[in-house]
Amino acid sequence: MKVAIVASECAPFAKTGGLADVVGALPKYLAELGVDVKVFIPKYDSIDEKKFNLRFMDDIGETKVRIAGFPRSVYLHTAKLPQSNVDVYFIDCREYFYRGKIYTEQWDEDERFILLNKAVIEICQRLQWAPDVFHCNDWQTGLMPFFVKESYSWDRMFDDSTFLYSIHNIGYQGRFSKDALAKAELNPEHIQFGGALEFEDSFSMMKGGILNSEVINTVSETYAHEVLTPEYGAGMQDVLRFRQSDFFGVLNGIDTDEWNPETDTLIPFHFSKNDLSNKKKNKQFLLEKTSLKFDENVPVIGIISRLVAQKGFDLIADEIHDLMTLKAQWVILGSGEANFEQLFTIMNRVLPNKCWTYLGFSNELAHLIEAGADMFLMPSHYEPCGLNQMYSLRYGTVPIVRKTGGLADTVKDWHEVQSIGQNTGNGFSFIEATGPALYAAVKRAIDSFNIPDEWKKIQMNGMNSDNSWEASAQKYVQLYERAITKRR
Ligand code: ADP
Repeated sequence: MKVAIVASECAPFAKTGGLADVVGALPKYLAELGVDVKVFIPKYDSIDEKKFNLRFMDDIGETKVRIAGFPRSVYLHTAKLPQSNVDVYFIDCREYFYRGKIYTEQWDEDERFILLNKAVIEICQRLQWAPDVFHCNDWQTGLMPFFVKESYSWDRMFDDSTFLYSIHNIGYQGRFSKDALAKAELNPEHIQFGGALEFEDSFSMMKGGILNSEVINTVSETYAHEVLTPEYGAGMQDVLRFRQSDFFGVLNGIDTDEWNPETDTLIPFHFSKNDLSNKKKNKQFLLEKTSLKFDENVPVIGIISRLVAQKGFDLIADEIHDLMTLKAQWVILGSGEANFEQLFTIMNRVLPNKCWTYLGFSNELAHLIEAGADMFLMPSHYEPCGLNQMYSLRYGTVPIVRKTGGLADTVKDWHEVQSIGQNTGNGFSFIEATGPALYAAVKRAIDSFNIPDEWKKIQMNGMNSDNSWEASAQKYVQLYERAITKRR
């Protein structure tokens, strides 16, 4: 089976969030299952060509891809996905992808990804490689089925190609002004009222992906149920309901090569569930780095996140005074919306012995926080899957989460399962999206931390949780097969 995974991010080359982690890990596991998989992403100027050994493909040369009637020059580079034999192809269009960052708010953001969709098809033509499945991800690739089935339908090589469309976050729908249709040179009927790309009087790439792919999925089972409701569907719930019989939830896995406390090259002290003594040394190292005073009886609460409303930081803001009375230290890594950056900067400034904030993106620091913190907080309003709670479980760092989406599927509340006579809890969770509910969960976690045997059990339950990609990669193969059967 041949599969082209198309996305706007892929770790370790280009990453802003969990999408990159998925696109960087899933192909390795698919390859192990015998799938012939290739990955296609843009070549951003931020990608370090030397570090990742990118090779310019002379034999492909220049490809002219048309946007709004004008040809744009596209070149191709390739590299191996680290620790695998999977080929990653980088679509090099200087005009669109050399912007200093992956996403922009510039006027031609729509064109940037329309180009990606078309360029991948033209590059497949050049490579003379027609996948059985185009596995498209998020709004940036939602137009692929239109282009293959309409604009390039003259090319019979794609006659048997099918589409799986994965939604990693329904909140980002690729909505633009209706002019985008002309830029894509697609049939004008699509943008008329009720058309496949018309959504609330605008142009939506995500709606296109949902309606025109054979199979659709999102990244956890709970989120797959949630997005069918007005509360979580961000307006897209009716479109999804229309495709409900082809819509599935598949929980993401984690890359157990990259996130392994026994071998992680980004942490100073390795540890395993058989011996957690080095976890304490990582805590000490983390606190030295952050100028917080080490005290093994005071828990460190870590946060690593895009600082956006989705992630529930308003709940922390609402409850900040009470939270700061708790006996705990806080280490925060993230960047995003100004109000949340300000909140954590002020915490750092006002309580320098209690809080440390780093505004920015740092993979090294992310690994160190996972290794050194005692707890990890993710109070998300919604969370399609969430990866950090799974990294936390693996690193013996107990997650405190809001019970939603993938967080609900991976974190079992210690007290909730105890109330039914089980000691299988691996974290703490709360349901109501309110400051007091968050506070109560953090307080419960700290109380358990103060009972060493109980805490050890919770950590062990987490470290024994299996969130590897093996099972999920098999589920993706089943979805690919379903798409192929459907097309036939
Ligand atoms: P989302 O995709 O919504 O951002 P996920 O939890 O699915 O959330 O994935 C986020 C990924 O991005 C994780 O791998 C996390 O460690 C990483 N990440 C987020 N913010 C930062 C940051 N400031 N520095 C380093 N890594 C970050």
